[in-house]
This record gives sequence, C-alpha cells and structure tokens, in this order.
Amino acid sequence: MPQSPDVPLDGLYGDLILEHFRSPRNRGILAEADLESEEFNPFCGDRIILQLKFDDAGTVVEVGVRSEGCSIIQATASLMSEAMKGQKLEDLDALALAFRDTMYGRDEGEKSSVDLGPLKSLTVVRQFPVRIKCALLPWVALEEGIKKYRSSNSHAQSG
Ligand code: ZN
Repeated sequence: MPQSPDVPLDGLYGDLILEHFRSPRNRGILAEADLESEEFNPFCGDRIILQLKFDDAGTVVEVGVRSEGCSIIQATASLMSEAMKGQKLEDLDALALAFRDTMYGRDEGEKSSVDLGPLKSLTVVRQFPVRIKCALLPWVALEEGIKKYRSSNSHAQSG
C-alpha cells in the first residue's frame, strides 16, 4: 500500500523546511518547565509536546519540543522553537496570531508588525490546504499552553 504523499517540497522554502525536519532544533525534554502543552492530530498521526521555561522577566529562555508525525509538523515545531526564544508571552500571542493569519492568507497589506522570519517558509503549505492543520498544531499547543499558564498564574496571584 503506497503511503499518502507528504507535501512535495522544493525551492528555497522547501529546503529550509526539509533542513529543520532532518535536524530539528530544541528537541528534548526540559527538566523544569513553566509551561507545558500537548496536542494530537489523528489525521496524520501528528503529535507535539511543547515546553517553555521563562526567566524572572517572563522571557522564554528554554524550549523543549517533542514532535512526531509528518514533515510539516516537525519542521514547524522546530522553526517555531527558534522563533520563541527571547520572546515574552505577549510576543508569543502576536507571533501565533500572525502565523495563523499568514497560513490562512490574511496577511495582505502588511497589517501585522510581526516579522515571521524563517517561519515564512511555511507559506508553501498554503498550496496544500489539508496540511495547514499540520503547520498550525504546534501553535495550537502554544496557545493552549499560554491559556493554562495564565489561568494558573492569575490563580496563584489572587490567592
Ligand atoms: Zn501532519
């Protein structure tokens, strides 16, 4: 039985995605994490566990990623992990929003002030709408993780 084809990747953007797929960054488990989140997409067996560690100023100092599944989720998780370092929670909100808008083609007119940098390479996935979910899964994990982190934090402060 032939496997369903992965997204065909070539050109400059494709090369970058493949490179991150083959050599994923920040892969591993953090001994201590302030934020942890897991998401699963049964469509192609994509799974991600995302961990973040913040310093006292609330800046991301460490990222831990465990991902499995197709090339797109693994490359996205790797590219995302690099983009998150040195960012604060509100920067991550903006980054996730800008990425989502870009993947759905809502980035016309440079409304966003967020520079996606190497993450822009993932715009090739827009040609394969069914795979956009693969590229968004790590961001869903991030957004859900942020929600959880914020609610547990505000709880601690009010108590
Ligand atoms: Zn996938």
